[in-house]
Amino acid sequence: MKSSVVIILFVMAAFALQTGDKYQVLREKMVRDQIVSRGISDQLTLKAMQKVPRHLFVPAEYVSRAYNDSPLPIGHGQTISQPFIVAYMTEVVKPTSHKKALEIGTGSGYQAAVLAEIVKEVYSIEIVPELAKESAALLGKLGYENISCKYGDGYQGWKEHAPFDIIVVTAAAPEIPQPLIDQLAENGRLVIPVGPPSSIQELILVEKKNGKTVEKRLTLVRFVPFKRL
Ligand code: SAH
Repeated sequence: MKSSVVIILFVMAAFALQTGDKYQVLREKMVRDQIVSRGISDQLTLKAMQKVPRHLFVPAEYVSRAYNDSPLPIGHGQTISQPFIVAYMTEVVKPTSHKKALEIGTGSGYQAAVLAEIVKEVYSIEIVPELAKESAALLGKLGYENISCKYGDGYQGWKEHAPFDIIVVTAAAPEIPQPLIDQLAENGRLVIPVGPPSSIQELILVEKKNGKTVEKRLTLVRFVPFKRL
């Protein structure tokens, strides 16, 4: 582990103990044991994961498991992803403060919040109306003014706000939706699980360079299926 990471985590833990925020302590442990230990080193990603109160994004009955190393049900057959996967997908799209991001699959709103801690604007689309409503309300309550949510089929992207420097798809699609490739900015990065539903998929990174896209296979993952309206 890099010494700068150790120092940051130590300062955060000391501050958390002082303020008595037990969730801050659990987050510090989550970041150290599940995320830094598996090789995530981007400071902006680690800081965002340390800050976003994941326990507020899970149903009441799962609050005690909010910082566990696993996905959790969020209702309507959907899940909030494992913390490591959220960190991995965040780091791989290289978020920075001037960038604009699109997320497909708002779900609980957690990944949107993590991105919003780093980038300028986040646009997020959710296909389950109840989840779209609940996550938009929660993100508003938490003060995320740089996130815009809408209900709909993310296959079409969000043309009015394109192009996007970052596109994060959090549901497994049979192929990469062409509208998303079209809405990716020059030098933009798109990450998406591709493969059959209810099985193992491949996480693919798409980069756009000189108008052409280059695909890279990253790792194997298991996501809920990409639905269509
Ligand atoms: N990013 C979410 C993960 C939720 S799981 C989080 O941090 O909690 C993936 C979500 O994608 C589900 O809520 C599912 O309803 C949604 N989804 C599936 N297909 C979609 C589509 N075509 N457009 C928008 N959302 C979709």
